[in-house]
Amino acid sequence: MITRIPQNLHDCWQQELAQAYTDPKKLLEDLNLDPSDFGNALEARKLFPMRVPRPFVAAMTPGDANDPLLAQVLPAAEEFIATPGYSVDPLEEQDNQQPGVLHKYRSRALLMFKGGCAVNCRYCFRRHFPYEENQLTREALNQALEYLEAQPELNEVILSGGDPLMAKDNQLFKLIERLETMPNIIRLRIHSRLPVVLPSRLTQALADRLAQSPLQIILVLHCNHPNEITSGLSLGINRLKHAGVTILNQSVLLKGVNDDVDTMVALNEKLFANGILPYYLHLLDKVQGAAHFDTSDDNARELMAGMLARLPGFLVPRLVREQGGKASKTLIDLQLS
Ligand SMILES: *Cc1c(COP(=O)(O)O)cnc(C)c1O
Ligand code: SF4
Repeated sequence: MITRIPQNLHDCWQQELAQAYTDPKKLLEDLNLDPSDFGNALEARKLFPMRVPRPFVAAMTPGDANDPLLAQVLPAAEEFIATPGYSVDPLEEQDNQQPGVLHKYRSRALLMFKGGCAVNCRYCFRRHFPYEENQLTREALNQALEYLEAQPELNEVILSGGDPLMAKDNQLFKLIERLETMPNIIRLRIHSRLPVVLPSRLTQALADRLAQSPLQIILVLHCNHPNEITSGLSLGINRLKHAGVTILNQSVLLKGVNDDVDTMVALNEKLFANGILPYYLHLLDKVQGAAHFDTSDDNARELMAGMLARLPGFLVPRLVREQGGKASKTLIDLQLS
């Protein structure tokens, strides 16, 4: 039983969200870094706006221009480089059939519940995604839900976005209530990076509602580096664990952020210390403007071998790539080429 609710985890997440950094110069100054050292790099905010909530910045090391959290959110000069083989829509999502739904795999489908994210990650495969056009109207959401209910082979709905936890609790609760009426649906999965950058989003009200649900609930966090697991995130995760939620993590393999064995071992150990199991390690989706984060498949394989040698099997994530037209994510063969 958690009876003591720290004030900073109450319901202040929307306020914290509104106070996110959007100006790279201000962010750098507050980190004791000199914006003039970054030249024209910061102009890349025009390609994809910068957005970084303060709790995420609090986990960065002041004065470290190579901080692995900063590297994920700071506009970079390399974003201007057009790289062959990198597209604006690597997953070919931009012409989906049922608005708001991505139903590519038989038993589970994504419901794009909420456009927009709390943070803009520079490597995001949706950095060119027309979020605003994809905000679901109430009517479109109802149609999407009718579609999901009518699929006999579907048993799991995955809330995606943007980030589904951008929705307010009451909005989310209405949706959950509707999903609970669907006889075909037994599991609800929430894919979110939001708690990592804004731990206060894991409200007690949310935990209480999830605890009551007859659905099995899974939260798949998106955490890339051990420094992202702060005491605030631990508290919020603990709350959900007490509510019976299964918590998994997926990471993206990012050059200069987490592409070394020590970092990956530390990440997966720290996840498990907080009751979170590693799920997927994604190879970067080849999106235009993010090529500088990419590593070779062989580097990824060597990293996997390093993890296998140092971690129990259940703490080694599955290395995958998303490919259009496949029945599932593609597991990467670990044999060096
Ligand atoms: C990744 C993804 C899923 C979930 O796949 P799992 O392997 O079950 O995690 C479902 N639908 C789509 C369209 C996806 O991209
Ligand atoms: S939180 Fe996820 S969807 Fe949002 S910008 Fe980051 S990687 Fe992209």
